[in-house]
Amino acid sequence: MSLLTFAKIAWAVGVVSWYVLRIPFERKAKRQRVADARHRNLREMILLSISTLGLGIIPAIYAATGFPRFAAYPPTGLQVVAGVVVFAGSLLLFWRTHRQLGKYWSVTLEIKDKHELITSGVYEKVRHPMYSAFFLWALAQLLLLPNFIAGPAGLIGFGILFFFRVGREEQMMREAFGAEYDAYARRTKRVIPGLY
Ligand code: SAH
Repeated sequence: MSLLTFAKIAWAVGVVSWYVLRIPFERKAKRQRVADARHRNLREMILLSISTLGLGIIPAIYAATGFPRFAAYPPTGLQVVAGVVVFAGSLLLFWRTHRQLGKYWSVTLEIKDKHELITSGVYEKVRHPMYSAFFLWALAQLLLLPNFIAGPAGLIGFGILFFFRVGREEQMMREAFGAEYDAYARRTKRVIPGLY
């Protein structure tokens, strides 16, 4: 098997693992009644589609067909190994954030019935560890797919979702939790502990 084929398979295994990992949590979250869905709107749906395009559709087309060929470059063993390690780390973090958020998790922005603010574990140092996990996934895609378009597509796609969403999510949380969220926001960063 060529290094390129191995890297593409590693990327696909990562994405499928993420999908499978989410199934039980999706079931759990669906059972919970929604108290505030005002932020679940068309804008959110468009942002989610852009993210899916960058993390899923563009790289899947590349992995299956090699398109766009003009943007291809030869991969190095080191970048592929790093990609596998980063994807594994991302999946571990995904699993931990899902375990902790439990029934409060949602694909889009909403406040559940009797929603509680989680501030411990992976939520102790950053307010958006699940988005940290998505950025790690996007970084793994950049490392695993040696193509100047399909590689960075995830960072761009998820980056757009993140930067257009995060302010609104925090505003929604502030409305729901008031001073408790303000205090939590003051002692934490958004996605990188101690940095941002
Ligand atoms: N931004 C978070 C959660 C993503 S899931 C992260 O990256 O880990 C999105 C939903 O999680 C939001 O609709 C919100 O209701 C919920 N949420 C976000 N932060 C939370 C927290 N600290 N405690 C409880 N629920 C939270």
